[in-house]
Order: sequence, then C-alpha cells, then structure tokens
Amino acid sequence: MSWESSAEYYKLINEFTKERLSGWHSSKCLIYSFDFAEIEKLQNENEWVKLNGIMIDAARKLEAGGAECILICTNTMHKTAEEIQAAISIPLIHIADATGEEIKTKGLKTVGLLGTKYTMEENFYKGRLSEQFGLKVIIPDKPDREVIHNVIYDELCLGKISQVSKEKFKNIIAKLEKEGAQGIVLGCTEITLLIKQDDLKIPVFDTTKIHAKAGVEFAFK
Ligand code: GLU
Repeated sequence: MSWESSAEYYKLINEFTKERLSGWHSSKCLIYSFDFAEIEKLQNENEWVKLNGIMIDAARKLEAGGAECILICTNTMHKTAEEIQAAISIPLIHIADATGEEIKTKGLKTVGLLGTKYTMEENFYKGRLSEQFGLKVIIPDKPDREVIHNVIYDELCLGKISQVSKEKFKNIIAKLEKEGAQGIVLGCTEITLLIKQDDLKIPVFDTTKIHAKAGVEFAFK
C-alpha cells in the first residue's frame, strides 16, 4: 500500500515476466495506487468498514479495466480480502496462500511471523497459515510487536532504511528462532527493504517476492 512496496511489486512482476519471455517483454498490468496517508489514517481509526469499501471500489475498477486477477500488494489489507473476492468475479490471489505453499514446499512446520500489529495479532493471516497449511505460527511478544509495527509505518513506509532497526529486527528474529521458528515470514511487504536472506541463517519468506511471483505464475497458466 505504501508506494515503496508497490514499486517493488511492479519491478518484481516485470522481472518474473521477463524471465519467462525474455527480451523486451514486460508485464501488462493495471495498478490502482492509493494515497497511503488516507489508508493509514483509517487503519489507525479502526475504520475497517470504510476500508472494505475503498478496496472493493478499487478492485471493481481494475476488473472493469480488464484485469484477469487481483493482487493486494500488502499483507495487512488482506483483512479485506474476503469482502473483495465476494464483490468481484476475477480471482484474488491471496498473499497468505502463496506464502503458505512456499513454506510447505520447503518442508517447514513452525515459522515466525513479522508484520504490522494487525497481521501479527489478528486471525485473518495467521489463521489462514495454520488452518489451511497446518503451520505453527509464532509471533514476537508485545514490546517487540510494537517495535516492528512502528518501524514499518514510521520508517519503511516512508522509505527510511535504518541499520539500527535492522539490528532490532535481527534480535527479535533470533528470539523467535529460540522459541522454535524454523523460518521467518516477512509478513509485511516493506520488510523486504530492510531484511534479506543474507542477513539470516534460517529461511526467509519474502511475501512481496512470493506474492508477485504467484501473480505472474497465475497469469501464465
Ligand atoms: N505493506 C504492509 C503490509 O504488508 C503494511 C502497510 C499497509 O497497511 O499496507 O502489511
């Protein structure tokens, strides 16, 4: 939803498309870009009914424009995924499903989840990973959840990449690993700007990359 991660998606979708078609090929896609300040305010005010409406309106516009599938380019806004899917007739490719499949492919059973407080604390994401993919999902404790949430909104969504925050994330991940996490889900589409596979020894599930790839795979089916 912040343009910082939308730009990543756009780049990745074109890279995956080029991998398949080579040369000058790029992806035919429609982007509905929001003003994230409006979205963040409504999230903060817990105005999820309004947010559902905004998301449905955008999805319908994309469908009317010719889109054959929809990607919501954020984990958090998958809180509205069911309502969106019910309002359109093209498939919505769910980020948790793409991620769950990737985790299963790697044969992991327990993962740590980092994301916004909505994603870490509510059931729309964790629940899907555990119910549909049989995964145990561990989240950080409350003070650590606050650190992660605040870094996402106050730094990453504003394009600020800080070494200090990177170390904080690595410490939090190390705690999750001690609690049994065999891999880490970067369950926010901006965390990829801060944490890379090379930063960690355990497998990293970069939801931005996994989701963009799932979209391209769907388009080529
Ligand atoms: N992009 C983030 C996510 O994946 C958070 C910002 C947003 O609310 O979209 O959850």
